[in-house]
Amino acid sequence: MSELRFEELRGEEVVYAIHRQDRTFLPDRDHCPLDPTLPGEGRAGYQTEIPFPSFEIAVFDNRFPAFEAPLGAAEVVVYTDDHYSSFGALAPQRAEALMWVWRHRYLELGAREDIDYVFIFENRGVEVGVTLHHPHGQIYGYPFLPPVPKLELAADQRLGGCAPCTLLERELADGLRVVHENDSVVVYVPYAARWAYEAHVVVRQHRPSLRDCEPHELRDLAAALQALVRAYDALFERPFPYVMALHQAPTMTASRAAAAGVPAGHGHLHVELYPPLRTAEKLKYLAGSEQGAGTFISDTLPEESAAMLREAIARGG
Ligand SMILES: [Zn+2]
Ligand SMILES: [Zn+2]
Ligand SMILES: [Zn+2]
Repeated sequence: MSELRFEELRGEEVVYAIHRQDRTFLPDRDHCPLDPTLPGEGRAGYQTEIPFPSFEIAVFDNRFPAFEAPLGAAEVVVYTDDHYSSFGALAPQRAEALMWVWRHRYLELGAREDIDYVFIFENRGVEVGVTLHHPHGQIYGYPFLPPVPKLELAADQRLGGCAPCTLLERELADGLRVVHENDSVVVYVPYAARWAYEAHVVVRQHRPSLRDCEPHELRDLAAALQALVRAYDALFERPFPYVMALHQAPTMTASRAAAAGVPAGHGHLHVELYPPLRTAEKLKYLAGSEQGAGTFISDTLPEESAAMLREAIARGG
C-alpha cells in the first residue's frame, strides 16, 4: 500500500510506493509482460499479463500500483498486441477505439468515491523512464486533486472563464504556432511552451471530458494525436520520446471540490505532450532554475518549433 505525505513547504502530496522498486525493468524480448500469451513452448508458453493469444486493446490493474483501492487506482492500457508498434503507428480505427477505452475508464474510475482525478497518460521512451517498450499507456486515479489540474482551474478564474477556450481562441487568431487542425481538434505549440517541442491538442468545443464528446470528436481527437506523434517521429527521423497527458474535469464530489476550493465539474478536455528532446541527441534536463525556482529556461522559440512540426507533417510524418 502506498503512503501519502503532505509536503507543507510546497503544499503538495508526495506518494511513497516502495513496492514499485521491484517492478519489471526493461525485460528481454522473450519476457515482455504486455505481449499476448502464446500457446506452446519457449516464448510461446510464457504467461504474460494478458491470457489471450491475441487482443486489440487490453486494460488491467497495474501489478506495481502507485495507487490502489480503496484509495485510488492504477491501470495499464495496452494499445496493441504488436510489440513493435506505437501509438502513432496504430491503424486509425484502433486509435479511435482507444479514445472509447479511455472514455470508459474515465467514467468508471471517475464514478468511484475515492477517486478525485482520473489521469490518463503515456510515457514513451527510456528518456522519460519507460520500463517496458511494448506500446502502452497508464491511468492513475488520484485520491486527491493533483497540483497541475488545480493550477489550470485557477487559470480559469484568472482569465474569467474557461482558460483552454480563451487560449485556443488566441492561438487560432495568431496562427503562428498552430501545427495541425481538423474539424473538431486543434494542435498547437503553446505561446509559452516550456519544452522545445511541447504541443497541446485541444478539442474546439468546450467539452469538460471525453464523456461529453460526440463520436466524431473522439475520432478527430485520435487523428490529431496520431498526426502529432508521427510528426515527432519524422522530425529527427527517430522514435521521439514524450510524456502525453490528458487533462479533463476532476471527478471529485461537490463536497470534496468545495473542501479543495475548486468548482466541481469544471475542465476542458485537452492533451499536453512534453517531449524531452531539444535536438536529435540533446535532452532537456530539469536543473537548478526549473527544480529550485520553478522557472523553465528554453533555448527554442515556440514559433520555430511549430514551423518545424508543420514541415514534418507536410513531409508525410
Ligand atoms: Zn511486448
Ligand atoms: Zn473551454
Ligand atoms: Zn492542461
